[in-house]
Amino acid sequence: MYHHLLRDASFWLFLFAVDQDIAESTHKEACTCGGRLHRANYPRKPRGGPDDLPEPYCYRLSFCCDRDGCRRRVTPPSVRFLGRRVYLGAVVILVSAMQQGPSPRRVRELSDLFGADRRTITRWQVFWREQFPQTPFWKAARGRIAVEIGTLPRTLLDLFLTSPDDNQGWMRLLRFLSPITIAGGLSIEGSP
Ligand SMILES: [Zn+2]
Repeated sequence: MYHHLLRDASFWLFLFAVDQDIAESTHKEACTCGGRLHRANYPRKPRGGPDDLPEPYCYRLSFCCDRDGCRRRVTPPSVRFLGRRVYLGAVVILVSAMQQGPSPRRVRELSDLFGADRRTITRWQVFWREQFPQTPFWKAARGRIAVEIGTLPRTLLDLFLTSPDDNQGWMRLLRFLSPITIAGGLSIEGSP
């Protein structure tokens, strides 16, 4: 089953390395004002990972312009954190997916595995069913990916992963979704 990989600290270290690569290309760019970007990570306390979740998970990689009067914050996309959600992105995807399909897992079982309560899991379902399909990201992506909204995110897992322990597949899926992890990435068209 997919969830074994998510109990494995090396999987999370692998995703952290991907985040570092993404952040490095952001770091190389200058601020729009011409200033230099300095590291300004901010703290996170993610849930849903294994007990030995690696230490870098207590922060999200981020930068800040060094010029007085600007100080703009630039936060690169992430394959680890799904926007401001407390739970790790892969957990939000997996738990939601495990409730779908021919033999859905029960909420209680998922709560035992990942520590998310019923209300949280319900919020994730609403997110995939109602909020996510309204994002500009999905409206642009759905032309390339033939997936019915009611089947999200299970069909995304099926599409990107070739086997339960396919961490390259996870990386591709999480990178694909990473545009929604930055500020404004989850804004719905027509709303401010
Ligand atoms: Zn600046």
